[in-house]
Amino acid sequence: MSLVLENVVKNFGEVEALRGVSLTLKKGEVVGLLGPNGAGKSTLMKILTGYYKKWEGRAILFDKDLKKELKAIQQKVGYLTENNPLYQEMYVKEYLQYNADLYRLKNPPVETLIRKMGLVGYKHKKIQTLSKGYKQRIGLAAAIIHDPELVILDEPTTGLDPNQLLEIRKLIRALGKDKTVLLSTHVLQEVEALCNRVIIIDKGKIILDKQLESLRKGKKQIIEVSFNFRIEVEAIRRIPYVEKVKNTHDFEYEIYIKGKKDMRPAIFDFAYDNGLKILKLQMKNESLEKIFNGLTS
Ligand code: ADP
Ligand code: MG
Repeated sequence: MSLVLENVVKNFGEVEALRGVSLTLKKGEVVGLLGPNGAGKSTLMKILTGYYKKWEGRAILFDKDLKKELKAIQQKVGYLTENNPLYQEMYVKEYLQYNADLYRLKNPPVETLIRKMGLVGYKHKKIQTLSKGYKQRIGLAAAIIHDPELVILDEPTTGLDPNQLLEIRKLIRALGKDKTVLLSTHVLQEVEALCNRVIIIDKGKIILDKQLESLRKGKKQIIEVSFNFRIEVEAIRRIPYVEKVKNTHDFEYEIYIKGKKDMRPAIFDFAYDNGLKILKLQMKNESLEKIFNGLTS
C-alpha cells in the first residue's frame, strides 16, 4: 500500500475543509481526486506533503506514519502545487539542478528528465519566456527529480490550451507507468482521460471511490459528438448498435450505444459518408457524469 488515510480532519477556524477522509492508494494506481472548487482537494494534498502539520486522523505512507517520519516520507513523495510556482528568472536546466540540490542528490537525472519532458531545446532558456505548457513540463520534471514513488499533482492541467493539455496528459500517463499518481481536478473529462480510479470529494467528504472500469461496466456507452451542421436524428439512429440519439444542442448529439464495442470509428465513417465534419467526439460515462453534475449544478 502506498498510502492509507484514516479519518483525516482539517479545520481552518470555522471552515471544515476535510471532514473525516479515509482512503487507501495501491502502488501503481493513477487516481483522480475530483471535486468542485473548495471541496478540499488542495488541503488534502498539502497534508500529504507535510505542508500542514496540524490536523487530525492518521496517514500512513509506505508503512510510515506521516506525523512521525515526515522527512523520510518526503523523500518518496513528489508534489506539483496548484498554479506551479517557478522561479521565473532561472534557466530551465539551472532550475532543475537547483531542485536536485535541495534533495542533496548526488547524480540527479537532470538531463534524462529534460529529455523525457521534451525540454531539450529549452534547457538554456529563461523560465519566464516559456509558455504555460512548457512551464508545466518543468514543474513536472522538478516534482519527480528525486524519483519519488508517489506523485501528487494539484490540478496539473488547469489553464492549458487544448494542445498543451494533450502533451501534459501524455507525460502524466507516462509517469503512471512506474509511479503511484494522485492528481486533482475539477474537470470530469480529465479523470476519464488519465485515471484508472476516481475519488469524488465534496465539502470535505469522499462521496464516491470507484474503479473507472467498474463504472463503465454494465453502463450504457454514450458518445458525445458535434458536427459542422445539423443532421436528422433518424439518420444517426441507423448506425449499427445505436439505441437512441439525442440532439442536445444545435449540432451536438448524444449517441447511446448497445454493448461494449467502441463505436467511435463507426461514427467517423458515418460523418465521412455524409460529408460531415466532426468538431468534437468523446465518450461519456453516464453514472459518473450524473453524480458530478449533481454536485456542481
Ligand atoms: P479545492 O482545492 O478542492 O478547491 P481547498 O482544499 O483549497 O479546495 O479548500 C477547501 C476549503 O478550505 C475551502 O472552503 C477553502 O476556502 C478553505 N481553505 C483552504 N485553505 C485555507 C486556509 N489556508 N485558510 C482558511 N481557509 C482555507
Ligand atoms: Mg485546489
